[in-house]
Amino acid sequence: MAARRDDSKREWFEEGLAFSCTQCGNCCTGPPGAVWFTDEEELAMAAALSLDLETFRDRYVRRLGRSRSLVERETDFGHDCVFLDRESQPGKAVCSIYKARPRQCRTWPWWPENLASRRAWEATRRRTPCPGMGQGTVHSPQQIRIVRDEQAAQGDPAW
Ligand code: SF4
Repeated sequence: MAARRDDSKREWFEEGLAFSCTQCGNCCTGPPGAVWFTDEEELAMAAALSLDLETFRDRYVRRLGRSRSLVERETDFGHDCVFLDRESQPGKAVCSIYKARPRQCRTWPWWPENLASRRAWEATRRRTPCPGMGQGTVHSPQQIRIVRDEQAAQGDPAW
């Protein structure tokens, strides 16, 4: 018989947590960083742009240590992700491949390290320039746990 996940386990965020993205783009810029992706996510991004894989890699992928990351562009704001679009919506910075964005982007801010404790969550809120954390839509613990566990199961690649 297959093991069943114990959904009754209480989390510190049992009342849910508020988060609504303001589309400020802060998480997609700043100091040099990395946007990791899997082979499947790379194919999805290429398909979203109607590009073959080779062309997609030539234009948007760079080697970073032992892994691969999306290219960044230096702008007045910092090192923008190559897919950060500051033009199409005045006052907003949006992802130009939103539906095909990698897990790292989809799962923010429900990363295991942010959810390890209330203290960790509050520390991340203070440390990161994400105005969406702690405001707007309250997400249920079930929703949060599903996304957190997806991120935890795959983790980040080794550098
Ligand atoms: S920093 Fe937060 S609010 Fe701003 S775009 Fe990223 S997720 Fe949205």
